[in-house]
Amino acid sequence: AAEEGFDPEEVEGALGAAGHGPLPVLAVVGRPNVGKSTLVNRIIGRREAVVEDRPGVTRDRVTYEAEWAGRRFKLVDTGGWEQDVLGIDASVAAQAEFAVEAADAVVFVVDATVGATDTDEAVVKLLRRAGKPVVLCANKVDGPSGEADAAYLWSLGLGEPHPVSALHGRGTGDMLDEVLKALPEAPEQSFGTVLGGPRRVALIGRPNVGKSSLLNKVAGEDRVVVDETAGTTRDPVDELIELGGRTWKFVDTAGIRRRVHMTEGADYYASLRTAAALEKAEVAVVLVDVSESISVQDMRIITMAVESGRAVVLAYNKWDTLDEERRFYLEREIERDLVQVRWAPRVNVSARTGRHMEKLVPAIETALAGWETRVPTGKLNSFLGEIVASHPHPVRGGKQPRILFGTQAGTKPPRFVLFASGFLEAGYRRFVERRLREEFGFEGTPVQISVRVRE
Ligand code: GDP
Ligand code: GDP
Repeated sequence: AAEEGFDPEEVEGALGAAGHGPLPVLAVVGRPNVGKSTLVNRIIGRREAVVEDRPGVTRDRVTYEAEWAGRRFKLVDTGGWEQDVLGIDASVAAQAEFAVEAADAVVFVVDATVGATDTDEAVVKLLRRAGKPVVLCANKVDGPSGEADAAYLWSLGLGEPHPVSALHGRGTGDMLDEVLKALPEAPEQSFGTVLGGPRRVALIGRPNVGKSSLLNKVAGEDRVVVDETAGTTRDPVDELIELGGRTWKFVDTAGIRRRVHMTEGADYYASLRTAAALEKAEVAVVLVDVSESISVQDMRIITMAVESGRAVVLAYNKWDTLDEERRFYLEREIERDLVQVRWAPRVNVSARTGRHMEKLVPAIETALAGWETRVPTGKLNSFLGEIVASHPHPVRGGKQPRILFGTQAGTKPPRFVLFASGFLEAGYRRFVERRLREEFGFEGTPVQISVRVRE
């Protein structure tokens, strides 16, 4: 049989590599130029030029997966914030706020050659109030002579300063050991089903699609939940909302209700917020405003949701504004731009009139069910056997790669590992995914497939 000769350890190894449950989140925070990006690059072991000389460079990508001493975690780089827009204090405060909302632990980076500035002191206050574990990184200690500079940072009251040279790597290992002690094994916000708590929903979408309107509609208009005073230390606000006979947790609603008055930099902030909300959620309800054309930003947010591995529901909002003509173009835009999420349940709603609000919960439930689907190995392999027989991979260079065996490595979202006798082309992988979906459903969930080639 095909699976003969498979080393169980190899299979185990593949499963481990493919598995990614909820990981604890570490945020790197600090003033501009203290070396945050350099440190992030050092930790993720990548030399690619995230460090930019040009200030105000916006980056979409803010979270990375990292590993130290066999433990994996998510690393959030807050270094892309545009200080020009807000001024340094506000930009650092915004990072700290983000860290408070989304992270399980924080690395606070200070430039030891400069010492603690007023801005640093202010951030310390924010961090301390948030009560998250903080590891103090005294950066730019490139040699022993800098150790004394680091010692001065005891004055910040955050405990031991860890002398580090992010640039050369000096001291980063010791600091990461401390970080691991501070990070919980699994994120605090671990999956609701595990804890038996309410399922967690993120409402995401670009500014003005109607997130806060929808939230108000589902939560009941007259509920005043958020204190609008301009402070950055508010606790993360998740709201428990009764819908369709059960309680749901809408995560990061503070981020939704807060109006950010900015022109430049708003995109970056929105990306951070989206990443934070996705991090905490099991299912993302992505809002699209049908009164406008589907934009690059909409697509980017949908991609973030898919890549985060969360279940996805698409809510086409402002349906009340639609006339025949716009409707025609909308359907075309969806065909053209949103094929990658054809599998997501769709609801056409109006947060204004309340249209089809009752369809939201069934769509979310469908998506969560897809997200948790597990296909027994036997069933999966008879299905794969049929595919191989009826639609073999094309012959390449005289060889015909074959899928030998497959297994589902995990759920939330479903992840598969296929063992093959040769490289499977992208087109063939897509074909396999499509057939998997036809066979087993997976409505509303991304499906991850990795292929191991047996030499
Ligand atoms: P960020 O704005 O906090 O992300 O800071 P960057 O990572 O962009 O670093 C700002 C500058 O400090 C860059 O020129 C880095 O090369 C430099 N830098 C970062 N870490 C170190 C370090 O450990 N030692 C020295 N000497 N320079 C560093
Ligand atoms: P957010 O930035 O995504 O939270 O969007 P808001 O909820 O603040 O909504 C932005 C604007 O769109 C506001 O003027 C809302 O009144 C309007 N809006 C939201 N939902 C609807 C809807 O279903 N129909 C119409 N016509 N307008 C809406």
